[in-house]
Amino acid sequence: MSARGNLFIVSAPSGAGKSSLIAALLADTPKDMQVSVSHTTRKPRPGESHGQHYYFVSVDEFKTLITENAFLEWAEVFGNYYGTSRRVIEQALADGIDVFLDIDWQGAQQIKQQMPEAVGIFILPPSREALEQRLKGRGQDSVEVIASRMEKAVSEMSHYNEYDFIIVNDQFEQALGDLRAIIRSQRLTQASQINTHSDMLKGLLAD
Ligand code: 5GP
Repeated sequence: MSARGNLFIVSAPSGAGKSSLIAALLADTPKDMQVSVSHTTRKPRPGESHGQHYYFVSVDEFKTLITENAFLEWAEVFGNYYGTSRRVIEQALADGIDVFLDIDWQGAQQIKQQMPEAVGIFILPPSREALEQRLKGRGQDSVEVIASRMEKAVSEMSHYNEYDFIIVNDQFEQALGDLRAIIRSQRLTQASQINTHSDMLKGLLAD
């Protein structure tokens, strides 16, 4: 039987580069890591597909899943519901796969309560100016839309101190290296190593 996988929670305000960092990480080492695909009631954006980015469901379907206890955590984020499938996460961890949850601070709090061993990582932009620049996108949005995105970002960022690790995404490669270092060090903790090498340890310590 394989050793249990590690659970990583990754949160960030929109515009901090979280999705690109997770995608780059998984492109390197896809076999022993997976990113959880959440359910959401928000409408798909152009280029998003069902089952790959999210499972797009109706509010009724989402509420039924809540009553069936299908979610490890769920939250309302800026007017839409989002939830993490309990079954998929438990199966992946039992199969020895490290799982990444790309979720907000509300979900992170719920996961930490149930699984204190989960590792929380918060990604910050290097400055308010850089964040604003990234939120402006292609420059087609109104001042009000950008101000509202900024407000949401600041609200998410105010929870940065509830996480075990903080990455400042100024230079992408540096931030990716930081993310890899966190994962590597987590795999080397005593609890992880006992889990991974239980037979070897028995052999080493035999009389
Ligand atoms: P977006 O709609 O831009 O894809 O995501 C909006 C926010 O919802 C992001 O902060 C994202 O991390 C969060 N989110 C996505 N999936 C989940 C989930 O399953 N649970 C929780 N609590 N938040 C989620």
